[in-house]
Amino acid sequence: MRRSGAILRDCLLYLADKVKPGVSTKKLDEFAYNYITSHDSKPSFLGYGGFPGTICASIDEVVVHGFPSARRLKEGEILSLDCGLIYQGWQADAARTLAVGEISEEKRRLVEVTKQSFFEGVKQFKAGGRLGDISHAVQTYCESRGYGVVRSMVGHGIGREMHEDPSVPNFGKAGHGPKLEVGMVLAIEPMINMGTWQTLEDGWKCETLDGKPSAHYENTVALTERGAEILTL
Ligand code: MG
Ligand code: MG
Repeated sequence: MRRSGAILRDCLLYLADKVKPGVSTKKLDEFAYNYITSHDSKPSFLGYGGFPGTICASIDEVVVHGFPSARRLKEGEILSLDCGLIYQGWQADAARTLAVGEISEEKRRLVEVTKQSFFEGVKQFKAGGRLGDISHAVQTYCESRGYGVVRSMVGHGIGREMHEDPSVPNFGKAGHGPKLEVGMVLAIEPMINMGTWQTLEDGWKCETLDGKPSAHYENTVALTERGAEILTL
């Protein structure tokens, strides 16, 4: 999983460099497909439950699961790029929210708080703790700063399959939930809204109820004897 994680990390760095005004998300999807298949890996999203792309490309108020399309990115938007791959049977899953050109100060802060909340969660990923410790850390970090924590989508265990038990919500009670043990690998992925936590879902669609922007930051994280190791960073 270290190997699959490293390939995905590099793929996301490669894609981040291509994100600018005028580029279509379909084009980014092609770059991702070519990158992954030329690194002895398989895109895990493509065809998953019928999903049509190698990446999820979710712009502004779209929380997750945006379909790559011919629509071109515009200056000032934020793009959440979520991608997954399989290398020698092992999965990796990670997401970044990227600025398209210059973005507003409030969007920049949303992206920054979302990213930092992931690290607050990782601090709690330790042997002897409970899964709820991670959830609680993410939730309190974001809510105390006035942001909405998405409830309808959660993180997950990952290994041979992209989505394994346990679910990893970004909200919950410290001291509750499954015990955290060495050998666990989790996709920890805060999805954080500038406004209300509520979302609208319809099939693949997942958008904020109030139309305000949402950010996503995800890594595949292993719990080792030496502590949490982020495999996709
Ligand atoms: Mg993902
Ligand atoms: Mg995930």
